[in-house]
Amino acid sequence: MSQVVTRIAPSPTGFMHIGTARTALFNWLYARGRNGKFYIRIEDTDRKRSTIEATDVILNGLKWLGLDYDGDIISQFERAPRHIEIAETLLEQGKAYKCFSSPEEIQKFKNIAQESGESTLFKSPWRNTDPSQHPDSPYVIRIKAPETGETTIIDEVQGKIIIKNKQIDDMVLLRSDGSPVYMLAVVVDDHDMGVTHVIRGDDHLNNAARQNLIYEAMEWNIPIYAHIPLIHGEDGKKMSKRHGATSIEEYEQNGYPASGVRNYLTRLGWSHGDEEYFTDQQALEWFNLNNIGKSAARFDFKKLQFLSGQHIKNSENAALLHETLKFLEKHNKTSLSEEKIKLLSSGLYCLKDRAKTISELIDKAHFILTSRPIQMSSDANSSLDKEALEMLGILTPHLHNATWTREELEQICNSVAERHGVKFGKLASPIRAALSGQTKTPSVFDMMLVLGRNETIARLNNVQV
Ligand code: GLU
Repeated sequence: MSQVVTRIAPSPTGFMHIGTARTALFNWLYARGRNGKFYIRIEDTDRKRSTIEATDVILNGLKWLGLDYDGDIISQFERAPRHIEIAETLLEQGKAYKCFSSPEEIQKFKNIAQESGESTLFKSPWRNTDPSQHPDSPYVIRIKAPETGETTIIDEVQGKIIIKNKQIDDMVLLRSDGSPVYMLAVVVDDHDMGVTHVIRGDDHLNNAARQNLIYEAMEWNIPIYAHIPLIHGEDGKKMSKRHGATSIEEYEQNGYPASGVRNYLTRLGWSHGDEEYFTDQQALEWFNLNNIGKSAARFDFKKLQFLSGQHIKNSENAALLHETLKFLEKHNKTSLSEEKIKLLSSGLYCLKDRAKTISELIDKAHFILTSRPIQMSSDANSSLDKEALEMLGILTPHLHNATWTREELEQICNSVAERHGVKFGKLASPIRAALSGQTKTPSVFDMMLVLGRNETIARLNNVQV
């Protein structure tokens, strides 16, 4: 088979829906897993909505998700002359015709058809007229759809769909102002781009029948279709803001790691046995069209969080550090000193374990990101009572001579607690407060190890004055 070519063809609406992101991901996986090409075509014929900013939202979403594309970004609007050329070719070949019926005449046709209980699909009186009889008035160009027989769509997900040609009207190709319609533009663009597989939302399934008419009239190869069911919320209704974040940007802002979102979205509506967690490499190897589900997938935030946590845990430290620093800069508007970056890097081992998002990881890293004097939360402050301060007073001198291994730190802390007749937890709370100003942190030993002797002692001394 020839090289696989897929594309994502978003309309710039000002935000990138999670469903568009998943469609892009499926197309990307399908192409990249087969050494194919993946293109972006911006369907920007609606000039009011098609701003540079709206296109940037889509490109940023794809970039964040890690979906690289081939060639230049294609603008559908800029290709209008080519769409017009094809409509004119079909006209010359007698496969399309000029229709001079006014909107009022069309409405009248429909009203009469409705009253007499017949099909309201418009049948133009101009379909078979001789050009010599044509008036000098505005016209549209319509395709001559077959009047009998059936149109079959073979879909990799939906199976075989048969539509009676009686149900398909002579669709307009060029409007009376000479502008091409969307349906024509899609087909011409997909053909010219060499698209072999059209993987898109099943809200476009009906369009496929009408698009096939254009392919057939031009004697072009029809691409392989895979219409994927839309994403639903947990209640089984179409995913909307009511269910949670619908734009890919929000997932980025909420700190989900791109790898976790990729894994989750791949799994959303596609399966490989019972596998839930997989790497990009596995997804590229395994992804196919056969295992896309036929019914709508339900968005499950818990699963997304679980998978995101797994991806954070399994990240290489260098990549995780990079992603965390980027997040801090972009969303927390913070850039760290060299010294803090080093500390963060050495602390990742204890931060990545149970963080479901990069923002959670950053919260856990508070003891690293903060500096003396440590600001105390009121909860943390309440653990620093008289007895606690006494214990810290005993503990601190012992730390001066410690070798700073986990074993030795544990031993010192345990013996101070024991001598004081308290459980270790009683001592851990004030240490935690002194080192971080918070009550929820990695273990006190991890914090001590990451901060090092001098900083630990300085923070412990700070709360004792
Ligand atoms: N522009 C369409 C959309 O955003 C996609 C059309 C297609 O993939 O053929 O839904």
